Amino acid sequence: MATTSCDVAIVGAGLGGCFLALLLGRRGQRVVVIEQGPSVPSAGADFLKPPGLRVLARHGLADLVGRNGLRRDTIRYYHDGDPIQEIRFPDGGFLIRPYRELVELIYTSCAMAGVEFWFDAGIDDLATGEGRPAELTLHDGRRLHAGVVIGADGTKSAVRQALAIEQCTMPYERVLMRVATVPLSASVAQLNRLYFSSDGWFTYFYPISRDEARVFVGLPPEDDKEIFQDGIPALLDELKKFVTDSSDTFNHLQAATWQRIKVSSLRVEAYHRGNAALLGSAAFACHPMTGMGMSYTLRDAEILADVICAAGGDAELLDRLLYARYEPRRHAHRQLIDYGDALAATFRDRASYLAAFRPDLHIHGEACAVPDAPQLV
Ligand SMILES: Cc1cc2nc3c(=O)[nH]c(=O)nc-3n(C[C@H](O)[C@H](O)[C@H](O)COP(=O)(O)OP(=O)(O)OC[C@H]3O[C@@H](n4cnc5c(N)ncnc54)[C@H](O)[C@@H]3O)c2cc1C
Repeated sequence: MATTSCDVAIVGAGLGGCFLALLLGRRGQRVVVIEQGPSVPSAGADFLKPPGLRVLARHGLADLVGRNGLRRDTIRYYHDGDPIQEIRFPDGGFLIRPYRELVELIYTSCAMAGVEFWFDAGIDDLATGEGRPAELTLHDGRRLHAGVVIGADGTKSAVRQALAIEQCTMPYERVLMRVATVPLSASVAQLNRLYFSSDGWFTYFYPISRDEARVFVGLPPEDDKEIFQDGIPALLDELKKFVTDSSDTFNHLQAATWQRIKVSSLRVEAYHRGNAALLGSAAFACHPMTGMGMSYTLRDAEILADVICAAGGDAELLDRLLYARYEPRRHAHRQLIDYGDALAATFRDRASYLAAFRPDLHIHGEACAVPDAPQLV
């Protein structure tokens, strides 16, 4: 089997992997992205908040992702049926765009930056060593020599395992999540509404296109079997207890297909080893109530691209730069994960939730949460 050489091998073609590939490709790096699926991932996040939009704008991608996407500027929160707060996002608000569409736009831009994608290609082995290129062996026997390896391969990262980096996964066991796509109703077209109940339920209604809406339902695991086995009447009975301004959506729930989603937080002990580093969900995962995973991942990819280009192929310098400029990202991620934990732990109780809630973080992102990482160069 042939051996290919490149400057940077990125494992995983999700948002993190594709965006980093684009930044590096534009700066003349030879990049190969290895993706186990037949194309970019089809399921994932829907909201890109202002900090992530600002990152994309810095790289001339704002128009591309904004075109045909939905813009919203308000989220209204309810508790046991009462409106309790509203956050307004200034300057064009945030973007709603199904994950696959967003990633595909970045992926398509990669072609002009000369990035090579190998789909249906998982890794069998990754060998990294002091100061020498990494060697990846793929399932089909192909080999890839890379000056830098990035694990952007999601929460179960094979790169992280190959690097023997310890991780801690904590499932959010008190709430089980279900999601369905339904026809758009007038109330959802009007406003994004997120409802919480003191019984440990929540539900979020928002549009994903001009004629479709997404409905998330979170519920105590002990209720899930009963509710989703007994069928939609039982679900509607529960929702009617705390959903007050979205009843025009109830009819649409009758025919919905509910997909179950498991959500966990993830923390890891290190973000790199020598010339290999982790990005996005391979490095951290927070509760989706923060709505910030993609924004932080895009910023991380920006930092990684700068570090890799600044190292210029010098393995020792790369290691130092990753320590100095990329490892400190763990502090920002830890704060975000802690924040997501706090939201998930308090939403049943109105006062505790409002005390934990940080509108500034949703609007401005980490700029208001953490100091900048120290710079080495
Ligand atoms: C339910 C839920 C809702 C969310 N909502 C939001 C939101 O609204 N806003 C927001 O900002 N964030 C949200 N997030 C977080 C967001 O989804 C992540 O931050 C983002 O997807 C991270 O992208 P990624 O590229 O790291 O990972 P992924 O998108 O998971 O991509 C990983 C890629 O690696 C591939 N892969 C895996 N293993 C291998 C292997 N061994 N070899 C080759 N390829 C491999 C996978 O097939 C996949 O394509 C949400 C998360 C969840 C769980």
